[in-house]
Amino acid sequence: MYDYLIVGSGLFGAVFARQATDAGKKVLVIDKRPNIAGNVYTEKIEGIHVHKYGAHIFHTNMEHVWNYVNKFATFNRFTNSPVANYKGELYSLPFNMYTFNKMWGVVTPEEAAAKIEEQKKEAGITEPKNLEEQAISLVGTDIYEKLIKGYTQKQWGRPCTELPAFIIKRLPVRLTFDNNYFNALYQGIPVGGYTKMVENMLDGIEVRLNTDYLENKAELDALADKVIYTGPIDAYYDFKLGTLEYRSVRFENEILDKPNFQGNAAVNYTDAETPWTRIIEHKWFEFGKDDEGNDIPKTIISREYSSEWKPGDEPYYPVNDEKNGKLYEQYKELADKEEKVRFGGRLGEYKYYDMDAVIDSALKFAEKEL
Ligand code: FAD
Ligand code: UDP
Repeated sequence: MYDYLIVGSGLFGAVFARQATDAGKKVLVIDKRPNIAGNVYTEKIEGIHVHKYGAHIFHTNMEHVWNYVNKFATFNRFTNSPVANYKGELYSLPFNMYTFNKMWGVVTPEEAAAKIEEQKKEAGITEPKNLEEQAISLVGTDIYEKLIKGYTQKQWGRPCTELPAFIIKRLPVRLTFDNNYFNALYQGIPVGGYTKMVENMLDGIEVRLNTDYLENKAELDALADKVIYTGPIDAYYDFKLGTLEYRSVRFENEILDKPNFQGNAAVNYTDAETPWTRIIEHKWFEFGKDDEGNDIPKTIISREYSSEWKPGDEPYYPVNDEKNGKLYEQYKELADKEEKVRFGGRLGEYKYYDMDAVIDSALKFAEKEL
């Protein structure tokens, strides 16, 4: 009946569904959640688009990806500039001259570079082997202790000495006065929310929500020639080789009777004691540029609590360490042998993908597949 059954209406599934449909294929998209859009889902509450599965800022250096998403949404000019709150002291992120000035009183880039070099030497690090060593060699001990150590251990539930160095390399370190969190040519939030953007991608495409593929596999498989699966790869194989680890996040949302709670979209709590990692104030993503503007008298905040994933929770971040990497490779061997099923996306490929990377990967996959 269908050429493709697409399991998951997140960005990978939605982009593939669009491309396949435009290539003349008949597709059915299913999702076990009651909503489309996967983790980028936004819901309008009190006139504010709330990022229900975590704050999402679109950023990319890939022009073809930027052009692609702009076919389905208009983007505002939001620039992510989180603030770090360490026991009441506020610092600019990512690490830049504002951060270094506040931390050490240094004024010039030379002074900042010298301070970092001094602390790196004191710590005796030549070749960083883990996140702690990588962080100290990038920004020195003081910043590591105040802005990285507690936050990272809360987020990943493991000491920084047991985490791979690459996680912290995602963050820019700049000797300029520039609070833009991302080194990206293009950045913004879709006006009207991500859900509307994904809705536009899925325009004219049949979608069934509240439908779990793994619970109705035989029946659903019979509907299509091929299956594109964007759920967790280990769940597909009923965890028979073992469970891949994820970090999960719990969001505590609150509607406040005030127009402004923290004056910024994201404030990270970087000490080890505060139980949440950060507080998101959703209205500031819209920047007064959205349809309603920011004259809303209320505000909505989400405290994020990071936790180890256990069956039944939403898997959010793949834990891309060596142990999980090896287990994933074993699952991938099985996946490569499948004739009817292809695996894609953050969960299907067990990969810490940003939105632009997942879209790029879906477009490349579609080009090959179609
Ligand atoms: P998903 O969005 O997870 O979609 C998979 C879908 O499959 C889900 O809807 C799920 O319900 C469905 N599914 C799973 N199993 C089944 C099943 N058995 N049956 C039916 N349906 C099933 N990226 C950025 O670029 N910028 C950011 O600021 C950013 N912030 C993030 C914040 C958080 C907290 C997280 C977790 C991620 C963030 N990302 C960010 C990454 C971004 O969310 C992903 O790159 C993107 O959403 C991945 O899309 P996907 O389609 O692969 O997966
Ligand atoms: N990080 C940190 N302090 C911060 C923000 C980030 O130490 O205030 C570290 C943390 O280890 C995190 C990594 O930098 O996992 C990458 O941060 P990013 O914001 O890119 O993480 P995301 O939430 O997007 O995965």
